[in-house]
Amino acid sequence: MRELILIKNGEIALKGLNRSHFEDILVKNIRWRLRDMGKCSIKRAQSTIYIEPADPAFFDFDEAMDRLCHIFGISMISRALVVEKSMEDILDKVCDYCQDDLVGVSTFKVEAKRSDKQFPLKSPEIAAEVGGKILSRFPRLKVDVRNPELTIFVEVRDFGAYIHGKPIPGAGGMPVSSSGEGMLLISGGIDSPVAAYMMAKRGLQLSAIHFISPPYTSERALEKVETLCEKLAPYTGRIRFYCVPFTEIQEALREHCPEELFTVLMRRLMMKIATRFCEKEGIPALITGESLAQVASQTLNALLCTDNATDLVVLRPLIGMDKTEIIQIARKIDTYETSILPYEDCCTVFTPKHPRTKPSLYFVERAEKSFDFEPLIERAVADTVIKHIR
Ligand code: ATP
Ligand code: MG
Repeated sequence: MRELILIKNGEIALKGLNRSHFEDILVKNIRWRLRDMGKCSIKRAQSTIYIEPADPAFFDFDEAMDRLCHIFGISMISRALVVEKSMEDILDKVCDYCQDDLVGVSTFKVEAKRSDKQFPLKSPEIAAEVGGKILSRFPRLKVDVRNPELTIFVEVRDFGAYIHGKPIPGAGGMPVSSSGEGMLLISGGIDSPVAAYMMAKRGLQLSAIHFISPPYTSERALEKVETLCEKLAPYTGRIRFYCVPFTEIQEALREHCPEELFTVLMRRLMMKIATRFCEKEGIPALITGESLAQVASQTLNALLCTDNATDLVVLRPLIGMDKTEIIQIARKIDTYETSILPYEDCCTVFTPKHPRTKPSLYFVERAEKSFDFEPLIERAVADTVIKHIR
């Protein structure tokens, strides 16, 4: 029995002339995600990608399907039987292949698709013949073309004919790295991992930067953030992770700047340090998990002051979302339970009692200039630890 996985591209299919450029990136991402699953051939034709294991008996289809469900750029995934492009072979094999899917089912329909126009029967004729065959083998079944419990697909394509049951939905979006690269400011909270998921879905390759303040923040707080990156990796692929020591800077801020501006000043310094790494790596965008009005540091005025600390594009995919909507996604991508573990973030350690909700850029910049942060920034950049999470 020859089985393979058929993948339908999502949004890429709408691209014009450079569609094959996007498809190449998707194939590369698929190859990478299946790299340790044994030898398979991966090829593409007519907006479909075919993944065929060299040795199907030793290929874990369920694991492969699960990995594929996390790859952006895919709209549908089907595990399918390969048969010859002849009605005899299709009719000969369809019943055996679909019998497990038909257990407990009382209505079905057959949907046929003939993209190989050389094939002598038209799609409705293929569907009628296959439907008849199934009815004669399983007389308890009824055909229901409007609302069937199971749809069986027969596709006659370039390389062969394929039979499969219901496809499972893919992750949608655009292939990671097809839109360039972004640097995520990741905390241990609920929001920033969701922001990562959303921007990876729009095709960004991610690096992530995290600021720690030992001894105020613990080793376990850092491990939590690394775990979050590991949980994101099935969606994002490899993440370059920067861990920046931030204690000295925070202590200097506490000592030399007005308490009510602490949060906005700290966020600006985070942006400045992140920007240094982006400039080095040619990354044009920063990503944060901020959502308008969620907390004092996320008012319009505060965001204006933060943006002003960098020349890069600042992407805030959660800006218009409620916490409940964000949590829904965090649960879906399985970061929520890790995010709510109660370890301190460097932001929460020095939270001012009365943060300024409408900081003015003039006063923020003046406060920042009252102390020379540059040597501390340089030291933090030099002492940053970089690793890869996959
Ligand atoms: P999150 O749930 O992502 O922590 P939040 O609602 O708790 O967000 P803040 O703590 O104000 O909000 O942080 C706002 C944003 O600043 C975060 O979404 C993240 O992008 C960034 N950020 C906060 N703390 C850190 C940190 N320690 N390292 C890197 N980025 C951080
Ligand atoms: Mg936070």
